Amino acid sequence: MNLKGKVAVVTGSTRGIGLAIAQRLARNGMHIVINASSSKEDMEQIILKLEGGMPQHIGFVADISRPEAVEAMAKKVEDRFGRCDLLVNNAGFTKFIPHADLHQLSETIFDRTIAVNLKGPFLCVRAFESLLRRNPPGLIVNIASVAATTAQGSSVIYCACKAGLVNMTKSLARALAPDIRVNSVSPGLVDTELTKDFGRYREEQIVQTPLKRLGRVEDIAGMVLAIMTDMDFVTGHDFVVDGGRSCGS
Ligand code: NAD
Repeated sequence: MNLKGKVAVVTGSTRGIGLAIAQRLARNGMHIVINASSSKEDMEQIILKLEGGMPQHIGFVADISRPEAVEAMAKKVEDRFGRCDLLVNNAGFTKFIPHADLHQLSETIFDRTIAVNLKGPFLCVRAFESLLRRNPPGLIVNIASVAATTAQGSSVIYCACKAGLVNMTKSLARALAPDIRVNSVSPGLVDTELTKDFGRYREEQIVQTPLKRLGRVEDIAGMVLAIMTDMDFVTGHDFVVDGGRSCGS
């Protein structure tokens, strides 16, 4: 598939996995919409470093848990590009809380985790649906986690949100077909800012992973590109990228 001139919105793309996805897609000729909930200046620096630079790519500050912000982002993309071929729901939030410590998981953290990791992707899908239908086939890729199935991850509610996201991927794949495909990618532990303070947990993951390393952001970006370019007849599926971790050591 020739990606030149097509448009990708990647939420949470100022760093980590989202930035790697944006970089990979930009290298393949797509227009990228960089998003984060804050830090507009950083965003401009990031766009300048993407292949193609400005004005091929744009940035939009929007907290994906806020419907009005997400709708404003969709309006901006329509005004600027008139199309959206790929929505990557990547933005995520978590706090490391031992699963047995029920009191440390405050309602505030519980609600915020749901708002960003589960409600946010739905709000983005709803806001971008009509643009994704405009030049079919549109594609949505939800960045979930192996925590969706292992229930091992940074907190009880984070795992539950990712399970919800994988489940929602299937519902939406059915609901939005045939114009829009919807798939999810479930990384194992990836070396990013989000996981840099996970200490001993990181070391344990490496030991228990058959390919004996943490995931790299490029591993996840490669999977998103593959779903976009080589999987025309695939929708409603979850692709695990974890070095074999879920097969056991
Ligand atoms: P990260 O914390 O390094 O980056 C997250 C990005 O999301 C940042 O750009 C941040 O600004 C943005 N963001 C956060 N809240 C936002 C909001 N409300 N609205 C808009 N943008 C927001 O995270 P990462 O490690 O790159 O993870 C990216 C995705 O991959 C997340 O959904 C995460 O749950 C998932 N994931 C990560 C790992 C891992 O080991 N790093 C493993 C499995 C799944």
